Amino acid sequence: MLYCVVVIYLPTSIIACVFFTFIASLDYDMDITVAYFHPLFHPEAVKRDFDKIRAVGAGSIVYALHEQEEPRWPHDLERGFCLAQRAGLKVHLSLGRFGNLFAGPSLMPSWYTFHHPQSRVKDRHGRFHDMTCFNHEDFRSWLFKQVEYCLSTYPVHGILIDEPRMPDVTCFCPVCRALCPDIADLQHFRRRSMLDFFNELFACAKRVNPRIKTSIVLLPQDLIFLEELVTIPHLDTIGCDLFWQVLGEDVGMVEQWGRRVVETARQSGKRSQLWLQNFNLDEQGEQLLESSFNGISRAEPDEIACYYFWRNNANPEWVWQQTQMLLRRIPRRQLHWQSVTSRIPAEETTQEPRH
Ligand SMILES: [Zn+2]
Repeated sequence: MLYCVVVIYLPTSIIACVFFTFIASLDYDMDITVAYFHPLFHPEAVKRDFDKIRAVGAGSIVYALHEQEEPRWPHDLERGFCLAQRAGLKVHLSLGRFGNLFAGPSLMPSWYTFHHPQSRVKDRHGRFHDMTCFNHEDFRSWLFKQVEYCLSTYPVHGILIDEPRMPDVTCFCPVCRALCPDIADLQHFRRRSMLDFFNELFACAKRVNPRIKTSIVLLPQDLIFLEELVTIPHLDTIGCDLFWQVLGEDVGMVEQWGRRVVETARQSGKRSQLWLQNFNLDEQGEQLLESSFNGISRAEPDEIACYYFWRNNANPEWVWQQTQMLLRRIPRRQLHWQSVTSRIPAEETTQEPRH
């Protein structure tokens, strides 16, 4: 809208300036996502938090939902997600530990796997592992129904799979054996069927609403699966948890991991999302928060993601202040518009700056 107004009223030199600024802003534009792993029970506190998150320029939050939570607090979820929407934030649901196949903020096992022990992955020695085999039809139909229900009941814009358990154990359960009778091929079958499982899950989400965005976020040690995962047709975004300190790595690895994700995502037409570790930092780790942020920025992802007051920082308030300060350094389209519109007489501007 503003762009049209500018074209009508301004001399050519300023139009050119607006045009080039617009192009330049597209090159550096980076979306911000913030994980909000806090209860939604107290609306006033939630609203205050969402306003703070919005004020740093974030467009989305990630909210993690464990399988036993939705039946227990549907009112809180609905109200909380509406509050996010009202604050201008899109909600992406992270499926917390469903089937023990994904990560989740609460360190508790999956109820589904607990109640369906026969669904567990079985290795070549006949030993069971603590996760459900994603090839079990009952598990798939249960999970897909859960996803369909959540996406059609709540104002949700996306689903996110966080740190999926990669197929490090070849499954010899009866379902996998029936689907892949050639034992020598079982290992490869597991990888193929994992891709199929994710694609079906995302297809199910997009059937509910074609505009739903789908994401997978990997741990750095699972980046070996990156090339395979970006072939998933219904996957929109591929991300990485660049948790250098938790993994006992040098902070310099952040940029290296990040570039690998960004380049692979870009080549396959997917979006990239890089996660900043602004949790579990002792005082020494806190001093390297800026370094790790700079590493992410240099990788130029489509999205940068971080946490709102997440666990175990030595100085939680300082970490959030520092995170806000770093996020505000990210060039955003709206800030470019603001610098251009300052030269335009007030009556010719039609759009308020966002911040
Ligand atoms: Zn199996």
